[in-house]
Amino acid sequence: MTTVAGLLEQAAARLATDLGLAKREARLEARVLAAHAWAVTPAWLIAHDTDALPTEQAAAFDALLARRLAGEPVAYLTGSREFFGRPFVVTPDVLIPRHDTELLVERALAQIPPGRPTTVLDLGTGSGCVAITLALERPQARVTAVDRSPAALAVAQRNAALLGADVEFLTSDWFEALAFRRFDCIVGNPPYVAAGDPHLSRGDVRFEPAAALASGPDGLDDLRHLIEAARDHLVPGGLLLLEHGYDQAPAVRALLSAHGYPRSRSWTDLAGIERVSGAEVSE
Ligand code: GLN
Repeated sequence: MTTVAGLLEQAAARLATDLGLAKREARLEARVLAAHAWAVTPAWLIAHDTDALPTEQAAAFDALLARRLAGEPVAYLTGSREFFGRPFVVTPDVLIPRHDTELLVERALAQIPPGRPTTVLDLGTGSGCVAITLALERPQARVTAVDRSPAALAVAQRNAALLGADVEFLTSDWFEALAFRRFDCIVGNPPYVAAGDPHLSRGDVRFEPAAALASGPDGLDDLRHLIEAARDHLVPGGLLLLEHGYDQAPAVRALLSAHGYPRSRSWTDLAGIERVSGAEVSE
C-alpha cells in the first residue's frame, strides 16, 4: 500500500515529466492538489506522510492529478487563487488572478487617498480581485466594477460577499452601461494579448476565457478603445491606470498622448518590466 509521501513523490515526478515543471514546483503542486483532494491542510500532509492511504482517497487524488496532467490550471482545480494576500474564488469563467496585476493595485492605492470618498471604476473585473482589493484597502472609496460576462460577475459578487467588500457590480461592455458617470480613478486589466500569439496555446491560458486574453492583431484593440472612451468618464484631473503586455508600454503611452492625456507614464513590476501605464486627464 502507498503512503502519503510515496503518492506525493510519484505525483511530483509525473508533473515534472508531463508538464515540464521544475522539481520544486512539481512537489508544491502535488501537495496543493492532495490537500484539495482530501480537504486537509499542507501541515496535515507532513504530519501524516508515513500513513498508508485508503484506496478511495488515492483515487480522489488520482482523478485530480489526471486533470492537472491534461493541462487544467491548478487554480481551476482547487477553485481558488490568492491575490494581494486574500483568497479569491476562481472558475473557468474568469481569468486567474496574476501576481503581475498586484502592480496595478499598488499604483491605484498610491493614488487613492485613505479617508477620502474617492470614486473608482474597475473595467472588466473578472474574479473581482482588483475592485475588491481596492474596496477593502480603501474603505472610504466607492468602487464600481463592470464586466460584460454575467458569469464572471457572479464569481466577482461571490468573492465580494466572501471577503466582505462593498462593491457596485454592473453588467456592462466596458463603459456601455455607465451613461454619463465619471470617476476619480479608472483601472483596468483588459485583454491585451495579440490574437495568434503562441502564448495563447500554451499552459494555463488555454483553459482561460479567450475574451479575457486576446485583443485584435496587435493586442491593443481594447486598450485603444478604453483610452479613448475613458476621457468621458473621468472627472477633471482623474486618473486612468491600465495593465498591458510586457512590450506594450511605449504604444500605450503614445495612445494616451494621442488622446490628449498629458504626462503619461509607466511603472515597472519586480522583474523590471513596464506593466502598468497611466495618465491623468487635464483639469
Ligand atoms: N498577463 C496575462 C497573460 O499573459 C494576460 C492578461 C490579460 O490579457 N489581461 O497570460
